[in-house]
Amino acid sequence: MSRVYDKAFFGSAIVPIDQATLNVTTSAVLYGLSIYTVFPVCVTGKGLRAFRLKEHFKRLLDSARIIGIDTFEKEWTEAKFIDAVQQTVSANAPHEDVFVRATVHVNERVPGTRSRGLATVLSIFLYEAAPIIPQDGARLKTSVWRRVPDYAIPSRAKVNGAYVNSVLAKQDALDSGYDDCIFLDTEGHVCELSAANIFLVRGGTLITPGTGSDILEGINRRTVIEIARSTGIALEERTVDLTELYVADEVFACGTSSFIAPIKEIDARTIGTGLMGPLTARLREKHTRILHGEDPEYANLLTPLP
Ligand code: PMP
Repeated sequence: MSRVYDKAFFGSAIVPIDQATLNVTTSAVLYGLSIYTVFPVCVTGKGLRAFRLKEHFKRLLDSARIIGIDTFEKEWTEAKFIDAVQQTVSANAPHEDVFVRATVHVNERVPGTRSRGLATVLSIFLYEAAPIIPQDGARLKTSVWRRVPDYAIPSRAKVNGAYVNSVLAKQDALDSGYDDCIFLDTEGHVCELSAANIFLVRGGTLITPGTGSDILEGINRRTVIEIARSTGIALEERTVDLTELYVADEVFACGTSSFIAPIKEIDARTIGTGLMGPLTARLREKHTRILHGEDPEYANLLTPLP
């Protein structure tokens, strides 16, 4: 279990984490009707910096729009959101890299199964930046559970209730002795892990399932794509078959809580040499440097925190 910092933002103020609570009668508790995002805040040479904060706020807005939680957009602006994040970080004053989780909970009491015009409350808390999969070669299992399709619960929306799908798949993988899962879509194509996007390398080309493959549009996925484009790495965003992973030279997972992590085994098949591949290593190093303010070209992706 990750260590949680003891001050949270809840509604409009900083409170002790134990007071950041929701009533059992709310839609958030009853239906999982909340939307969220998680982003890293890292220690850099110039102080604490949040990674792609504006894009995280935009993704929250997009999730709210998809699900129809319309009060969030009316009550929150990017500037107000950034201020709330700054308050939370300065109240806890971390001396290490942390993950920040911001959630918009629908806290209307017993409104029934609907989403519009309902009261919401924003919570923000910090926790230890511990990776959710091994960083030195994770082992994955194709899940017996399929990814919820866009026509049921859209993966593009980061809605809490949908994470039961991820819980089922991750637990299935753990029960079978693996570190995480590979989700397939309803047609059997590769989507992502339980909470990370996936990339493979074949013959020097970087390949990742497209945004039409029932994936979360990950912010680190976007970063990897931008790095590939700016450094001349051939890139394909397209439908991916499961067996392409088996014969790939390299496979890696990518996301806030998994960082860029090499995959060494899938369904009892060794991937490539079984060691971290050269492109994975290059992208991982670049990503780490960007997050820690060591790459001037990407400095605009970082928001200073007091
Ligand atoms: N897919 C899923 C299902 C996730 O939960 C996450 C983690 N937020 C990701 C992908 C990676 O997204 P990001 O790079 O924005 O952390």
